[in-house]
Amino acid sequence: MGDLSRFCCLNAGCPGHGKRNHGNLTVPARYGPNSTRVLRCSTCQARFSERKGTPLYGTRLSADTVVSVLAHVAEGAGARKTARLVGVHRDTITRYIRQAGEHAQQLHDELVALSPPHERTPAR
Ligand SMILES: [Zn+2]
Repeated sequence: MGDLSRFCCLNAGCPGHGKRNHGNLTVPARYGPNSTRVLRCSTCQARFSERKGTPLYGTRLSADTVVSVLAHVAEGAGARKTARLVGVHRDTITRYIRQAGEHAQQLHDELVALSPPHERTPAR
């Protein structure tokens, strides 16, 4: 079945929502060219893709290829250069860049919902 400890139920109304390694997930099915797992929550019966909520959602490339694409981009390689090095069409590269950027933005907004209290040192 593979390691499910990094996953959690994505149904916001479920008592197990967001709890990783909670023992509530099973893999009732797989789909797509990479045998992407469908996860099922035994608490609320919700089913979702293991890629949902990640930059891999809705992609047909293997996780390794996507990671390679984003690693090249993160190192400063442009879309054309990355396309040549990884062997993926450059329109696909730009789509991944956009998707990863939106994902990072959402994650940032979730993790940094509140600014840390700013303590000013009184001027002397
Ligand atoms: Zn659930």
